[in-house]
Amino acid sequence: MYHQAVFDEPLILDIKGRRTLKIPHEGEKFSAEIPGVMAREKLEIGDREEFSVIRHYVKLSEMNFGVDTGFYPLGSCTMKYNPKINDEIANLEGFRMIHPLQDSNDVQGALKLLYELTGFLKKITGMDEITLQPLAGAEGEFTGLSIVRAYFECKKELNVRREVVVPDSAHGSNPASSHMAGFDVVQIPSTEDGTVDLEKFKEAVTEKTAAFMITNPNTLGIFEDKILEMANYAHSKGALLYYDGANLNGIMTKTTPAKMGFDIVHLNLHKTFSTPHGGGGPGSGPVGVVEKLKDFLPYPLLTYDGKYHIDYVPPKTIGKVASFYGNFGVLVRAWTYIKMMGEEGLRDACESAVTNSNYMRKKIQEFMPVPGKTIKKHEFVASSNGPNMPKAGDIAKHLIDNGVHAPTIYFPLIVPEALMIEPTESATKAEMDLFIEKVREALKIPHEIFEKEPVNLKVTKIDDVDASKNPRPTVRMMKKLGEFKQQVI
Ligand SMILES: *Cc1c(COP(=O)(O)O)cnc(C)c1O
Repeated sequence: MYHQAVFDEPLILDIKGRRTLKIPHEGEKFSAEIPGVMAREKLEIGDREEFSVIRHYVKLSEMNFGVDTGFYPLGSCTMKYNPKINDEIANLEGFRMIHPLQDSNDVQGALKLLYELTGFLKKITGMDEITLQPLAGAEGEFTGLSIVRAYFECKKELNVRREVVVPDSAHGSNPASSHMAGFDVVQIPSTEDGTVDLEKFKEAVTEKTAAFMITNPNTLGIFEDKILEMANYAHSKGALLYYDGANLNGIMTKTTPAKMGFDIVHLNLHKTFSTPHGGGGPGSGPVGVVEKLKDFLPYPLLTYDGKYHIDYVPPKTIGKVASFYGNFGVLVRAWTYIKMMGEEGLRDACESAVTNSNYMRKKIQEFMPVPGKTIKKHEFVASSNGPNMPKAGDIAKHLIDNGVHAPTIYFPLIVPEALMIEPTESATKAEMDLFIEKVREALKIPHEIFEKEPVNLKVTKIDDVDASKNPRPTVRMMKKLGEFKQQVI
């Protein structure tokens, strides 16, 4: 069980310390020649001793929870353990100090790594070519949909194919990136069993459809078993199929998006293929495509002719989607992870993740509805929507207050009071049992307790509505509004 350390820690700039470093201050002149336009009038650097700075950051880290602290069952996030060897390799000087403008002759090792990673991802997805450029899953989606756009523009069908069909269980980024890429979003409902309603799907997919975009297993953790029928139907209408492969833990090594009939795939290396993530980064969302879409990929692509090159410009490229070659450090981590695991390791991770998920699903189902088909893949969604049941948000706060990290809540949108649970392969039976026990306990406690929780944390009850309607994300904004309580030690 995790207990957050609670410190009254001020901002680093508000910690008063002994001056140990001679740095120019307000009013003092820099001796270095800094061009006028670049020189700042005021330099906001404090003068704390090293030990004050270290203590400050260590305290902050002790107030934090991460995959190295404990079980972290956030659904649709794949918060798995990230082997430390990944960081060791990414920190090798040759990788860490590399510069993207170096001559390719001098960085053959790095290019070989990128080339090999591309090969691994081709095998895992079944796609014919891959770009490693996108810096996140959502950017991968935008890249993939820009390729859809360019493809139909090239075929002179873009004026008719205006729509992307998306199930109502989709991750919010799917309709968002479709819209950003200039398409209209057509949403289709799911049936009681949690899979796409085939009849409604056939009504929605027409000659106006540019792409059908889906994640499989879907966000309920259910494998869409009619996927081949859907793929054939969408193809028969001339549409492309987009696979949101952010979470591949449930299928990797068992099947591929290519086998399911998809034309475009994005992966989240920062989920399935390790790399610590959260708080906005760092990420990597490579995009794979089938042969007929290769020419539209972002440039440059890697090639090999006895030597590695990174200057190939596909003839109909959509352009660049990120500077240089993507988030190199994340790519090194993913390469290391896949190389260390091997096919057998990835299969084992897949099987363990699915087994863990179904173990928890079966236990939780004893006291809480788990909608949709019984057998789930890497995750499942329970619904705290029965009579006299607490709200999902209250359960989450109760868990956190009791030293257990909460699952994802209120997503997917089609399940009321959703608790989306993804244990991943990195969970022990004891951790899963404790989680289950704490959820069971939450269902029994009197409602008044929820009104007060959480009580054991640094940040207690917050006003969710105010926080999302009037966000004050920076200290500067809070100071302006007079809401920031300065604590000077
Ligand atoms: C996480 C996720 C995304 C978005 O990925 P980001 O890297 O956060 O942009 C898209 N689809 C699904 C199913 C996801 O779980």
